[in-house]
Amino acid sequence: MKVWIDGHFYSKEEAKISVFDHGLLYGDGLFEGIRIYGGKIFRLKEHLERLFDGAKAIALSLPYSLEEIAAAVEESRRVNEKQEGYIRLMATRGVGDLGISPYLCPRPSLLIIVDDISLYPAELYQQGIPIVTASSRRIGLDAFDVRVKSLNYLNNVLAKIEARQAGCLEAVMLNSAGYVCECTGDNIFIVKGGTLLSPNPSDSLLDGITRRTVFELAAGEGIEAKATALTRYDLYTADECFLTGTGAQIMPVKSVDGRLIGVGKPGVLSLRLMAAFDAFVRKG
Ligand code: PMP
Repeated sequence: MKVWIDGHFYSKEEAKISVFDHGLLYGDGLFEGIRIYGGKIFRLKEHLERLFDGAKAIALSLPYSLEEIAAAVEESRRVNEKQEGYIRLMATRGVGDLGISPYLCPRPSLLIIVDDISLYPAELYQQGIPIVTASSRRIGLDAFDVRVKSLNYLNNVLAKIEARQAGCLEAVMLNSAGYVCECTGDNIFIVKGGTLLSPNPSDSLLDGITRRTVFELAAGEGIEAKATALTRYDLYTADECFLTGTGAQIMPVKSVDGRLIGVGKPGVLSLRLMAAFDAFVRKG
């Protein structure tokens, strides 16, 4: 494995950053998770635009242009000879001192890791997964806009622990007002009466690139879809439910907090969108 750090490739063992990097000291930085399908990087431009928007929002001035980062990501894929895989792109505030001030960090760092993708077992896509509501809330807009994909994921980590303790792989997180937000690393959709519904990014969730792709595919399939506020009641009484994310793609949900969704199997529209998504990513 070759890891790209600030313009140079290092072996996995030699790929290191300073203990004074504010990415480590304060979670002061950003990340993206990106898929490689058949040697092609999926929606790289969208991922980089999200990275640049996040950088703008946290006043982090990236020392490279979008085109330069795109070229470095492409080169990293090529050097690592990955046809199917996962790219973790990170921007940190860079090396400073022990104080919180970002003004003592003269140069942000950029890191690119290209690795294998660890997939959910195939049978889960046929059965759907159970999820639970976590008591850890997603950070609210009153504190921070989580459309910034920051290096500080601690409340999501806590929700993931709750999922595990409940014997589940994922947990749904509510926002500070109690509305359904998203899962620890995935967005959430339901189907009710033939309409696809998903909470709004402005309700304090990450505007997932897979989520956006699902909205586009739904339009192509003639499925009515809209972003709207959802409560747990809406989840419990949904006809279908699924999660979306770069790693998970489209993962059907069979139960929420022990309430069976529909008949407890992936629904018709979920299956249609899963097939459409699969075809779309392979097309490139
Ligand atoms: N929500 C959260 C909190 C995430 O971290 C992610 C990405 N892992 C997603 C949703 C899905 O976003 P994307 O489709 O861009 O991977």
